[in-house]
Amino acid sequence: MMVQTVTGPIPLERLGRTLMHEHLFIAFPGAEFDPTAKFDRAAFIEEAVRRLVQLRTEHGVRSFVDPCPIELGRDAAVMKEISEKSDMHIICTTGFYFEDMGLPVYWRARTVDEIAELYIREITHGIGETGIRAGAIKVATGAPVVTAMEKKFLAAACIAQKATGVPIITHTQDGCAGPEQQKLFAEGGVDAHRCLIGHCCGNADPAYHRQVVDGGSYIGFDRIGITRFQPDEVRADNLATLVKSGFRAQIMMSQDRHCGWLGKFPRQVSAEEQARIEQLRSQGRYPPPYTYMFTDFIPMLHAHGVNQADIASILEDNPRRFFAGEALPQAAP
Ligand SMILES: [Zn+2]
Repeated sequence: MMVQTVTGPIPLERLGRTLMHEHLFIAFPGAEFDPTAKFDRAAFIEEAVRRLVQLRTEHGVRSFVDPCPIELGRDAAVMKEISEKSDMHIICTTGFYFEDMGLPVYWRARTVDEIAELYIREITHGIGETGIRAGAIKVATGAPVVTAMEKKFLAAACIAQKATGVPIITHTQDGCAGPEQQKLFAEGGVDAHRCLIGHCCGNADPAYHRQVVDGGSYIGFDRIGITRFQPDEVRADNLATLVKSGFRAQIMMSQDRHCGWLGKFPRQVSAEEQARIEQLRSQGRYPPPYTYMFTDFIPMLHAHGVNQADIASILEDNPRRFFAGEALPQAAP
């Protein structure tokens, strides 16, 4: 069984230790017109390669999933170049962002079938004429509930998932609507274990996490180190609770970081949030280094009773099973 990377298909056994939700480059639609936005492409590639080589050589990471939405500056050719230079497997996705911060007007006007046709083409033929194929589908929804427009794109993702067999990786906003996504995937005929419900660590309530894993999906604790959304102590505590409750096989750990960014953030940041960012920055914690999950967070998990075998299984077995489409193992007694 094969998984599509930006340099071509590889056998699943070669995935190895995998970060399931990371980014190389982000540019919100319109940033390319901002004359104050400076971007040095060569310097960006050099920095991204440096970080990926460090993840590979110091922490054994072999694969890096970049679920960049189509309209957020996704650049498959750059991903391929970085993959080749860093010797890291990179998997990219097809699919758009959520209504509040994405969804180009052209595609909002298309039918479910037209959107599904685009997704299927990017998975089976390639992105544009690059020949680079998407290895998964991105679905994104906002808060507090999924909008009617987002439901249309989610329905298209369901059609593409069933037609191609690749899995779905989601974005949720503010720790909301994960169970609602699961219900919509079920209605679209997609098996729960083919879906990774992303950013669930944005919700501090263990009952929310329990609802997602009871629904049979993978659960993303994938913003590790982004402490302005959630303290990592809360993430570590909640992740350990899931492991102790027998749900180790459904957890995905990642950092949702980026190596390059064009322009400004397309949303006003409140004075309170800006102050928090400045405080973290003054402590050298914003942004944290790309290796933070390994150097800081995993030791926190150990302190909560999560052992090295648990970590190895979460980072290796779960991504492989997810891409393989295998059923979840029976929970340990
Ligand atoms: Zn992301």
